[in-house]
Amino acid sequence: MGTRRPRIIAALAAVSLAAACSPGGDGGDGDTTGYPEQNITIVVPFSAGGPTDTVTRMIADPMAEALGGKIVVQNVEGAGGTVAAGQVAQAEPDGYTVLMHHIGMSTAPALYKDLGYQPLEDFATVGLVTEVPMTVVARPDFPPATLADLTAYVKANQDKVTLANAGRGAASHLCGLLFQSAAGVKLQEVPYQGTGPALTDLVGGQVDFMCDQTTNTSGQITAGKIKAYAVTTPERVKSLPDVPTTTEAGMPQLQVSVWHGLYVPAGTPPEVVQKLSGALQKALADQAVIDQMAELGTAPVTAADATPETHRAHLEEQIETWGKVIADAGVQAS
Ligand code: ASP
Repeated sequence: MGTRRPRIIAALAAVSLAAACSPGGDGGDGDTTGYPEQNITIVVPFSAGGPTDTVTRMIADPMAEALGGKIVVQNVEGAGGTVAAGQVAQAEPDGYTVLMHHIGMSTAPALYKDLGYQPLEDFATVGLVTEVPMTVVARPDFPPATLADLTAYVKANQDKVTLANAGRGAASHLCGLLFQSAAGVKLQEVPYQGTGPALTDLVGGQVDFMCDQTTNTSGQITAGKIKAYAVTTPERVKSLPDVPTTTEAGMPQLQVSVWHGLYVPAGTPPEVVQKLSGALQKALADQAVIDQMAELGTAPVTAADATPETHRAHLEEQIETWGKVIADAGVQAS
């Protein structure tokens, strides 16, 4: 997330200025001083039990505690996370409907012709949450032993091999595209509503392989229930010391890590956004959250990165970056 660092001081200055100038009440949309006065819903765009869901549930309680309210997590599945994002874009901008999304927020505009929402216009960013490495994993009895073997195997068996993902626009879809492009193959993709159920099928041998966040795959890798070929980050993951990086394994082009952030509908009063962001920062500093994340191969972002301004700058940069990659890969918009 190095591209955002120079903006941190400016972002913090903007936050303090906004706080100093805020009347602390009416944001043009009613009195918000008592926020929250009802349950807050965090919408997760993928299945329960998957990685996005896991990260959301880790921070929901400490955020609720910091806010002095209650947070309910709701899974709204479908179309690689775009159903949930479309729904939250239309929600009342009152701070009671929040979206947890990941890198898919930045890839969907290039992957969907008629997305139905615009990430930069229809949402206000609350803050980044975490950045998670991906793993290339396979069913336990899948023949290839290494990433190089996998590449050779899929080339020789293109018509047979199945690649699971969480739908077009999901991180697993993006990683699968990058893999296919690096290997020079076109495989049969099997879309799920999230990689939670995809992982269950992988363990059961119903699909051959996939990419997924360490927040979902770590436990099954460590338990020897699935094969792990590589992590998609420049460094190995501490909690998975035996799994090589894609660079070490001979596929340096396959680099992707999955950043997550919280969003509210555009028009949400700024003081409500600041309250949510402050609660997010507190949750991310919670030792239990830090420990749980470390066990799953990730870490919370810094307080400076869990701000609306830093998050927005990152989203802008990522939309541009992935837009080019997807256009170059020649992926058809639906
Ligand atoms: N890991 C999934 C993805 O491919 C999403 C999820 O199920 O959380 O984007």
